[in-house]
Amino acid sequence: MRLLIMGPPGAGKGTQAALISAHYAIPAISTGDIFRAMKTAETALAQQVREIMASGGYISDEITNEIVADRLAQADCEGGFLLDGYPRTVAQVDTLDEFLGGRGEHLDAVVALVADQDEVVGRLLKRAASEGRADDREETIRVRQQVYADQTAPLLKQYADRGLLVEVDGLGAVSDVSARLFQALDGRGHRGPTTG
Ligand code: ADP
Repeated sequence: MRLLIMGPPGAGKGTQAALISAHYAIPAISTGDIFRAMKTAETALAQQVREIMASGGYISDEITNEIVADRLAQADCEGGFLLDGYPRTVAQVDTLDEFLGGRGEHLDAVVALVADQDEVVGRLLKRAASEGRADDREETIRVRQQVYADQTAPLLKQYADRGLLVEVDGLGAVSDVSARLFQALDGRGHRGPTTG
């Protein structure tokens, strides 16, 4: 299975990505996690990543595309993968298409987690209190929501036009959401859980 998971900040992508990864035995690759891990280095690039993330904006397509291409080229992605937080821009969609096309591969589905704005702000503020993520301040959350609405939400239509979009209600208990997800993905005629 080659999957994407999309949705506004706070929709629960990371949580559901981990469950999908386990269920279908595919690696979950989160660009947000990769950038958070990179941030701590004492390099000019890390400094740039820190500043952009703290502002709520997006890292450049050039850097992001290169990092994802490197990751997808690793052996564990041969049998499938789940991308969480990528692509987020039209240029990233194009780059991913080229990358997969060059390998004779294609996406099986794009999961969109649907969640109410007020609900997600509440979740993010709660996460700020427990995890202390620098970009979970209320002001930055608003910027991230706006950037998502401007740059990333329109991508859903592209995937819908290709017949790949699977919209799932992201509200409710974590296990309810994942049950909906698995049902929707299995219902599309894809393979069920695999051992690798
Ligand atoms: P969120 O819950 O806001 O979706 P993520 O952990 O996915 O959080 O991403 C956090 C930040 O990492 C983003 O606000 C952005 O600065 C950066 N980032 C993650 N993925 C991308 C991407 N595909 N393109 C550009 N920037 C990205």
